[in-house]
Amino acid sequence: MAIKAEYIWIDGTKPTAKLRSKTRVLPNADKIPTWGFDGSSTNQAEGHASDRVLEPVKVVKDPIRGGDNILVLCEVFETNGEAHVTNTRAALREVAERYAAQESIFGIEQEYTFFKGSRPLGFPEGGFPAPQGGYYCGVGAEEVFGREIVELHLDRCIDAGLAICGINAEVMPGQWEFQIGPVDALTVSDDLWIARYLLYRTAEEFGIDATLDAKPARGDWNGAGAHTNFSTKAMREGYDAIITACESLGASQEKVLEHVNQYGDDIQSRLTGKHETAPWNVYSYGVSDRGASVRIPWQVEVDQKGYIEDRRPNANVDPYVVTRLIVNTCCEALEKAGQV
Ligand code: ADP
Ligand code: MN
Ligand code: MN
Ligand code: MN
Repeated sequence: MAIKAEYIWIDGTKPTAKLRSKTRVLPNADKIPTWGFDGSSTNQAEGHASDRVLEPVKVVKDPIRGGDNILVLCEVFETNGEAHVTNTRAALREVAERYAAQESIFGIEQEYTFFKGSRPLGFPEGGFPAPQGGYYCGVGAEEVFGREIVELHLDRCIDAGLAICGINAEVMPGQWEFQIGPVDALTVSDDLWIARYLLYRTAEEFGIDATLDAKPARGDWNGAGAHTNFSTKAMREGYDAIITACESLGASQEKVLEHVNQYGDDIQSRLTGKHETAPWNVYSYGVSDRGASVRIPWQVEVDQKGYIEDRRPNANVDPYVVTRLIVNTCCEALEKAGQV
């Protein structure tokens, strides 16, 4: 019987790219063909030469349609075979390959916020809920908004075979988190994009909008981030490499800005120095410190090996970009220090 293949790609919307998808009916899943789309409708082409190419890069089971139906994550190319400028995965492939011997591993914590109409879910019309305090990992109808969507999303991610490793309710009402990892840079990024697709689609069924806005509610409410946990083989084996990685991310102010400027739109609104963040333009790292740019988990200091957490990336960051920057910066420094 014919199957439905949902081709998914990342568009050219600025400042934050959006996911797009469309369906192709195929005789079976044996051959997943290259496909195309109208780039002039996705900010990826001008109207007079609008064809863009979809190259399948990862196929998983479609947990929404079920059966033999599939989701097909794609990279976008020009018709001449060059990667499109919006194809950030292509750049990650190169860097990941260059430093493959260091065996980088990532875990990304994706925070997000449900909106019903113009208000975060759980914010009463025309007013505000009780201040933050009880919502993080909360239990009960006073604290928790949208759990039925979150549970269904988790089941679907597991069903699709994604490397999802956990979920929790976050500090602001209607705000949640899921974690993808620990896996290599390409896998964490591919799976995060597919998990985002499943989140939007699942919330859509409930008439709810899931957003990755960095600061969804102004005022005394937490922003939404994408803490990026990172290790190499050497970091998983010793503390010197952990320190080298932390130092490399703050080696110069140019280095700090190179990262922060590509860590997602509206980062200045979220990284204020309040709400468990460090100021966006001041780099710091510390053990157990949730007010630092980069945290060395307490257990990592005890064990004298493990991983680091870059707390700066916004919820709306492109995982292909953040993992590329971190691999590039840290692996280059580790290589120079002979810690590989
Ligand atoms: P917290 O909320 O305390 O910051 P989480 O439990 O939400 O932490 O997320 C921790 C993340 O760290 C998970 O995504 C996990 O996959 C990742 N992780 C664990 N070990 C490693 C490692 N050695 N290298 C990279 N990431 C790791
Ligand atoms: Mn977390
Ligand atoms: Mn969190
Ligand atoms: Mn974290």
